[in-house]
Amino acid sequence: MKPKMVIGNWKMNKSFEEADDLIIAIGEQIAGLRLETGVVLCPPFLYLELATDQAQEADFTVGAQNCSEFKNGAVTGEISAEMLAELGVEFCIIGHSERRKFFNESNDTIAQKTNILLENQLVPVVCCGEVIEERKVNRHFEVVEKQIKESLFHLSKEDFESVVIAYEPVWAIGTGETATPEQAEEMHAFIRQLIEKRYGTETAYAAYILYGGSCNAQNALDLFAKPNVDGGLIGGASLKANEFVAIIEAAETVIKEN
Ligand code: PEP
Repeated sequence: MKPKMVIGNWKMNKSFEEADDLIIAIGEQIAGLRLETGVVLCPPFLYLELATDQAQEADFTVGAQNCSEFKNGAVTGEISAEMLAELGVEFCIIGHSERRKFFNESNDTIAQKTNILLENQLVPVVCCGEVIEERKVNRHFEVVEKQIKESLFHLSKEDFESVVIAYEPVWAIGTGETATPEQAEEMHAFIRQLIEKRYGTETAYAAYILYGGSCNAQNALDLFAKPNVDGGLIGGASLKANEFVAIIEAAETVIKEN
């Protein structure tokens, strides 16, 4: 089993001071754990520099929660991939269901964001997942397949290998209702098969497919133990150092037992 990855998506939370405290607390708690798990913190834009400063001495890297699909210029209010890279940010979440819902982000926009992130050597963390109505009528595989194909399958094999996928069933995000480990595994295995058909077995095996949706310190171990779940994208539970670190420890436990 390859090392896991745990990404914390803070969303639009924390004051400047609270963010500083949380970044320091997570850094202190994971120091000396000799983690194999890759840890990424994704605070709001305004706190990224706090995180990249600390990351120089700590065992985590830093991601943003979004970026512009445009390179630069007259795009008021946006932040470019180039700006993120300049700050030492290494990852960027794109296509989160909240951005699809509130900002009408389409698969096409996500494809453009993927391209610009890769051009700037950032790792796109591309979210996909169905809403409950789609699962109820058994359309979840079809929906996720379309999202992945339209936002990622234009990439060369080499570029695709720099992408992380996060399967986040929308009905599980922030609701406390987690997908069962079996539901997560079923979808992750399906996504890996899609990758295998498009890019081959080696690329499919190496691909990181994270689970997101009410993952917490209680359920992380069972989710991460599934062979196709390569870690987690964590929202609410990434806002408390103890809970987030317990999730990272669950990832470590799975790796050490396999
Ligand atoms: C998320 O927003 O990416 C997420 C997984 O949220 P939560 O863990 O709070 O469900």
